[in-house]
Amino acid sequence: MGDYRAPLTDMRFVLEHVVDTGALAELDGFEHADPDTVHGLLEESGRFFAEQFAPLNRVGDVQHSRRNDDGSVTTPEGFPKAYQRYVEAGWPAVPFPPEYGGGGFPWLVGVAMQEVMTAANMGFSVCPLLTQGAIDMLLHHGSEEQRETYVTKMVAGEWTGTMNLTEPQAGSDVGALTTKAVPADDGTWRITGQKIFITYGEHDLADNIVHLVLARVPDAPPGTKGISCFIVPKFLVDDDGNLGAHNALECVSIEHKMGINASPTCVMAYDGAVGYLIGEANQGMRYMFTMMNNARLSVGLEGLAIGERAYQQAVAYASERRQGRAPGAAADSAIIDHADVRRMLLTMKSQIEALRCITYLNAESIDLAKRAPDESLRQARQELADLLTPISKGWGTDLGVQLASIAVQVHGGMGYIEETGVAQHYRDIRIAPIYEGTNGIQAMDLVGRKLPMRTGGVIADFLAAIDATASEATAEGGDLAELGGQLSDALVTLRQTTEWLLANGRTDPNNALAGASPYLEMLGIVTGGWLLTRSALAAASLRAGGGDRDGFSDDFLAQKLVTARFYATQLLPRAAGLASAATAGPTDLFAATF
Ligand SMILES: Cc1cc2nc3c(=O)[nH]c(=O)nc-3n(C[C@H](O)[C@H](O)[C@H](O)COP(=O)(O)OP(=O)(O)OC[C@H]3O[C@@H](n4cnc5c(N)ncnc54)[C@H](O)[C@@H]3O)c2cc1C
Repeated sequence: MGDYRAPLTDMRFVLEHVVDTGALAELDGFEHADPDTVHGLLEESGRFFAEQFAPLNRVGDVQHSRRNDDGSVTTPEGFPKAYQRYVEAGWPAVPFPPEYGGGGFPWLVGVAMQEVMTAANMGFSVCPLLTQGAIDMLLHHGSEEQRETYVTKMVAGEWTGTMNLTEPQAGSDVGALTTKAVPADDGTWRITGQKIFITYGEHDLADNIVHLVLARVPDAPPGTKGISCFIVPKFLVDDDGNLGAHNALECVSIEHKMGINASPTCVMAYDGAVGYLIGEANQGMRYMFTMMNNARLSVGLEGLAIGERAYQQAVAYASERRQGRAPGAAADSAIIDHADVRRMLLTMKSQIEALRCITYLNAESIDLAKRAPDESLRQARQELADLLTPISKGWGTDLGVQLASIAVQVHGGMGYIEETGVAQHYRDIRIAPIYEGTNGIQAMDLVGRKLPMRTGGVIADFLAAIDATASEATAEGGDLAELGGQLSDALVTLRQTTEWLLANGRTDPNNALAGASPYLEMLGIVTGGWLLTRSALAAASLRAGGGDRDGFSDDFLAQKLVTARFYATQLLPRAAGLASAATAGPTDLFAATF
């Protein structure tokens, strides 16, 4: 089955030498989050999730959550106890504001912790992930009273949260939802309708579930302009915070699905349930946008987390399984000694490192966009977070599926057999390109909203930053110069393709939309190459500096150049191959008959 261990050294390297946790600790409110404290926290949480949740991963897959005849839901054996320990240890609170009992750590630290939690047990991790989305929404748009009533309990993990958007006719097109909200005499609302696919819509882990439900008030305008957001708790809460009657809502069934079987995916029926309006009516969609970057980044992170777990398992299997004789070997070889198996493992390793850099940079940008003392830096980082989000989500989750698939391949036939556990990773991660905005929607967001930001100025600045790294590497000479040259080459085609999409998307949106997905992949691949080059530069500088190399072994640092070189030689050139698809336009797509 393979044990999971948090890749703490790799995480620390990215946190301290690709992004800058130390600089975050100098910001107001983050003084306690110095690199040593952060590392200690990640070490402790890594141990916790590996010990408490990783062993339950297979249990959850086999047992599934089950709905009982009375509408209650029983999670797999061991889950309630492990959840209790998770709450007692204070892990749910880490990245939230101290006013609500949170640890006040940067989002970046929460994201690094989330990587480990998700790798340990993705079927569990989506419960805190959805709760985080609900907390985010309430912190931004809830009234003071609503925040006091709900957020403190949710930050502590005593109550969990859900996000209820989807209805049978309203998936990607959220504006098609029909759930109704009518005002009651006492200022509350009555919510009626059916929601589908609601993650942890019902369960036995916590005392209450705070559903955030999108619905339409009477006379709401059609489409997304007429959506309002309501708090609809499973149990009503009195003025003193005590739980009262069961609200008029029920989990009417649980979906049978391909993966993350521990997570109950619920059909929820609301039948005149008491709801409380968040903010103003008809502003629900605008409010959803404020929490979208965080939620989408968290889903992108699932690609990284499951990729890492599948990679660890693939390395362990390849080290033990003996087949054939590698050239020059005297006896049968472990398959890890065969060139093609090493190619698969290094394909995984290098892309995992690239994706860790991208997602952590995305998280750091979210922190700096909020907290940097300087307005222009705040704006620049907000723009960077906006641009990186579809890459983290879209490229990250597509990659997660590919990485899990490679891990199956490394296992040969045993990869296809459930008992090795590697097939579970492949099944589990397959949802990530679908939910939280399908990857098609991410690509459309990238070309339709993000490229045109500041009339192309944001993407131009981004490409200039990549160019600067390429020049820096070239100036170093040797292997690093080769990396710089390869990055420069990739950038030429990326820049041309970007300019084509910006210019031709203006004349006919379908020009850009037809090439959106190949473009997202292209941008993801080059962004990965950029950050691996930065990572190689940082490693080279630590090695050259001598001393204790900030606690990293010379071998570990030397490996950073190997992964960057492999990526630049074998994976980065694929970006240029996508230019033709990204700029082909829609003619054939609409000439084809199906
Ligand atoms: C396990 C699981 C958990 C989930 N958890 C939640 C949850 O907690 N809360 C919640 O509200 N929802 C949840 N969802 C729902 C999920 O967010 C939706 O499935 C997702 O948004 C896609 O909607 P859909 O399934 O209706 O697909 P559709 O919207 O029908 O999409 C089908 C295909 O068409 C494409 N497509 C659709 N519209 C366009 C367009 N305009 N342009 C180009 N392509 C388009 C899509 O990219 C996709 O490839 C969950 C789903 C699953 C399976």
